[in-house]
Amino acid sequence: MLHDYESSTAQSVTALTDDALEKANQLVDGVTTHGGTHTYANTVAPLEAAGTILADAYGAGAFLGRAHPNQDVRDVAIEAEERLTKWGNDVISRRDLYEAVKAFSESAEKETLPADRARVLDEWLRDFRRAGHQLDEGKRERLHELRTHLIELEVEFGKNVDEWQDHIDMTLDELDGLPPEYIERLGEGKAPGTYRVTMDYPEYTPFIQQARNREMRRKLQFKFWNRAKAANGPLLAEAVKTRQQIADLLGYATWAHYAMEVKMAKSPDAVADLYDSIIPGLEKRAAAELAALQEMLEQDHPGEQLQSWDWAYYANEQRKRDFGIDPNEVAEYFPLGEVMEGMFDITSDVFDLVYRRIEDAATWHPDVQVYEIQNADNEEPIAYFYADLFPRKGKYGHAAAFPLVVGRREEDGTYTKPVAAILANFTKPSATQPSLLKHGEALTLFHEFGHILHFCLTTVNERRFAGFETEWDFVEAPSQIMEHWMWQPEVLQHFARHYETAEPIPADLVERLVEARDLHVGLGTLRQVFLGKFDLSLHSGDGNVDLDRAYRAAYTYTQLPFHEGTAFHTSFGHLMGGYDAGYYGYQWAKVYGDDMFSVFRDEGILDPGVGMRYRNEVLARGAERDAIDHLRAFLGREPSSDAYLENLGLR
Ligand SMILES: [Zn+2]
Repeated sequence: MLHDYESSTAQSVTALTDDALEKANQLVDGVTTHGGTHTYANTVAPLEAAGTILADAYGAGAFLGRAHPNQDVRDVAIEAEERLTKWGNDVISRRDLYEAVKAFSESAEKETLPADRARVLDEWLRDFRRAGHQLDEGKRERLHELRTHLIELEVEFGKNVDEWQDHIDMTLDELDGLPPEYIERLGEGKAPGTYRVTMDYPEYTPFIQQARNREMRRKLQFKFWNRAKAANGPLLAEAVKTRQQIADLLGYATWAHYAMEVKMAKSPDAVADLYDSIIPGLEKRAAAELAALQEMLEQDHPGEQLQSWDWAYYANEQRKRDFGIDPNEVAEYFPLGEVMEGMFDITSDVFDLVYRRIEDAATWHPDVQVYEIQNADNEEPIAYFYADLFPRKGKYGHAAAFPLVVGRREEDGTYTKPVAAILANFTKPSATQPSLLKHGEALTLFHEFGHILHFCLTTVNERRFAGFETEWDFVEAPSQIMEHWMWQPEVLQHFARHYETAEPIPADLVERLVEARDLHVGLGTLRQVFLGKFDLSLHSGDGNVDLDRAYRAAYTYTQLPFHEGTAFHTSFGHLMGGYDAGYYGYQWAKVYGDDMFSVFRDEGILDPGVGMRYRNEVLARGAERDAIDHLRAFLGREPSSDAYLENLGLR
């Protein structure tokens, strides 16, 4: 029942996409040609069914654009993704479909719909409105054109980032500060005796944190913050302009107003209020954090000022000096296999699950592992997920969860089980070591696994509400809440074991890790504020942006001097991958994630009672109701920002 990805070729991806589009078109055309009165069954249901066919086609074909090892497969899969996305735009722009759905919405049957179907209908009407069906034909056509253009820009941007290759070849001297196991994993440079440091996270991040050579840190960061710059700068500027043209035609003040209308925040003012409530306190904290880092820098470089390429390095030095935390030593207690097992153990207990590795699944690459998730009480399989965790040329370079099959109730009453994938870029095994995760990588794994559980534990009937299809500024709550477990001493001691000796992680090391957790929470959160504010500044104006100026202006939130000549935004995939006027959602959702975790903290972090309540009221419910209703049901009260502010040290 799992798709055979091993046999995927460029031809098969194109063929299955063609086939899906043809079937979807037949269904959709049937909505306007049946000649009878409009019912749910002949109007809304076929539109939904067509969407399901395309969602399946995405998971079996287009998804491989981010993951397949062969360039030719990736290329056609990206094309397929573009075709599928454009199809959605074509459908929502069609006048005859709008009229059919509208006719149904005025029928007597509409009054008798069960709640979830009434909600499906509401979303169709809402999306038709947001496609401009209240406007004249000329404007509607223009909107369709603009959206088509926007889809092309976004696809192109993402592809440029994924396919970007850059590196610096370094001598052994220039790698001073990095441990032998890091150097052992590097490829050879062009000149004999040099080592190639690429833009992959497992090579970039430790270098920026641990390399003593300040100039090489600057150079590597410069390259990393200029990925795909020449091609993507113009694409981003064009997308911002196009979005504002859409907002203008639809009568919204800005794209941010348009985007937030369908999110929890509802309006940019609410987001501004959230930022206002944290920025002054964070700036105060950051000033003290910076002073300590500056002092350390001056011991090495008298009279110099701390720069952006120094932050991670001296932060690491400070954790070493004040807490005795060596990231490479910590990683020895986080072999990937043990971390996965630990994550499974904890979530088994808390959410009443069992995991089973599927050895013989046909995947797209030998690195990929596949797991079945079962309900513990009856050992019934409920979902599957793929874990593709190491960097590869041309693969999606960040970490994210992808929908392969969306859960839903079929016409015959059976439930189609969800299938998801994590794509990430963690430290690979080497000749002498297994994959040893840095603490930050283990946190990322927990985060992405939160998305997987959200997607996989769905019980929603309607495909469009299943999995992580919640309001998009809530979607990072189920992921960020998972990170909290990684900081609990009893959790760490349960699974973190030395890769050679199998000794559990020493209690005092755990204590020091937890103690050092908030050492740079001011600077760290302000970096998130910078990214969110930058996104909002692009999408809160008239659409004509000077990217460089906007970027520099927002960068001041980081409290660090600007790195001249860099353009991080040209590889900032969120801005062109669904988080436009939405990056704020990480902080917005963290408020709720922290609030929900405070219930676990009070009632027991491994308490299955709370766990099942969270599973049933939040994870299982998708977008079947508004996120605020999940929160009220789980919390038994109105949500509060107390835990969030406390975690930021602002309360
Ligand atoms: Zn996430």
